Amino acid sequence: MSATSELKLIRQMLDDLFPITRSLSGPGNRQTLAYLQDIIPLTTSEIPSGGEVFDWMVPEEWRIRGAWIANANGKKIVDFEKCNLHVVGYSTPVNDRLTFSELEPKLHRLPGMPNAIPYRTSYYKKDWGFCVTQRQYQELKDSAGLLEVVIDSQFDTEGSMSIGELVIPGNRREEILVSTYICHPSMANDNLSGIITTALLAKTVYETGTPIHTWRFLFVPETIGPIAYMSSHPNIIERTIGGLVVTCCGGPGRLGYKKTFQGDHIVDRAVELAFNELQIEPDRYPFSPLGSDERQYSSPGIRIPVATICKDKYHEFKEYHTSEDNLSFVKPEHISASLEVYRQVQVILDSNTKITSTIKGGEPRLGARGLYPSMGGSNRQIAVQHTQNSTDFDLHAMMWTLFLADGQHDLISIAEKSGNTYTDITSIFRSLENSGLAIRA
Ligand code: ZN
Repeated sequence: MSATSELKLIRQMLDDLFPITRSLSGPGNRQTLAYLQDIIPLTTSEIPSGGEVFDWMVPEEWRIRGAWIANANGKKIVDFEKCNLHVVGYSTPVNDRLTFSELEPKLHRLPGMPNAIPYRTSYYKKDWGFCVTQRQYQELKDSAGLLEVVIDSQFDTEGSMSIGELVIPGNRREEILVSTYICHPSMANDNLSGIITTALLAKTVYETGTPIHTWRFLFVPETIGPIAYMSSHPNIIERTIGGLVVTCCGGPGRLGYKKTFQGDHIVDRAVELAFNELQIEPDRYPFSPLGSDERQYSSPGIRIPVATICKDKYHEFKEYHTSEDNLSFVKPEHISASLEVYRQVQVILDSNTKITSTIKGGEPRLGARGLYPSMGGSNRQIAVQHTQNSTDFDLHAMMWTLFLADGQHDLISIAEKSGNTYTDITSIFRSLENSGLAIRA
């Protein structure tokens, strides 16, 4: 797919998926997953409500048909039809007439952002509420008489929680996990950008042919989703070498990444090399047990190191968890920039291999094989500060690759030690492989 058609596809996905009312469960999540099935061959499954998953329980399914607050004249001052953030997620049903002071404790607003509607949920405590702009709050306060308060919602103990997964079997049993969450309603960076990026990354891996590792892409509600999934797939824990949690990667700000709990895991190193390759200096965030689904994947008993590449990370942009995290804030170009980094990380993780020289004792005679002093495979000399010209550069990368081709070092560590990009080292290795001087260890 050309860059232009991909930007068009991202635009379409943003427009189509943004309005859907997603939550921990319910028809909006199924609709979202069904939409993604037109892009990638996603398998969906339903985890029944009430099921015990590790220390948690799968919640009742929540459905909402409508909600509003109307004044005594019947004018709807707040209407779920206009914005699905108006209702606190998992609100219990209400049909009442209340004074403003009775309603006031159930209203959430952001006085510092007068036009924004906050995003609130009450997943695990039965409650209800409305999220309103400062202007709506004032209008409700100024309304004479009783206010009609309606939330037409329903809980289904016989319901279920929907998840989507795409497993792309590789040549190896070892797996790499890519996970995003589908539980946020109409907000674009958190986390529609994550859904789109994950789907398009999965599409690339799927369409590229059999990968080296097995790649597992998950679309699950945040927190309870990974818990439920890992509790029902314990066998994948030991064979998953690492992964990525994709969230908040569509904002206009700088690219950044949150490290794995190990900090120097192969995933961290691949992320660093990907940014280096793209000549981007990212914001770096150390691991912390606060955040998104890395909390579950990193927890004792699972302990899969996962990193997050973001563009306007959660908590770091003022529009976060408000109606201003919308389609004016997130643009296809921003998602595309993050996707490029994710794709580079995917290529690095999947092609990395230990290599070994076939010549034992002394350096091989490069000249006899036409590999000295100049060889093809590099036009990226900018990556090496002290390089004078491409011949020096090629030689530098070549000598490091040969020096470290001892069966103990992989392409990632050769790129790190030599200061060359991963792509350059890979192409040098290919030249050596073609000349019979090095092989995969
Ligand atoms: Zn969020």
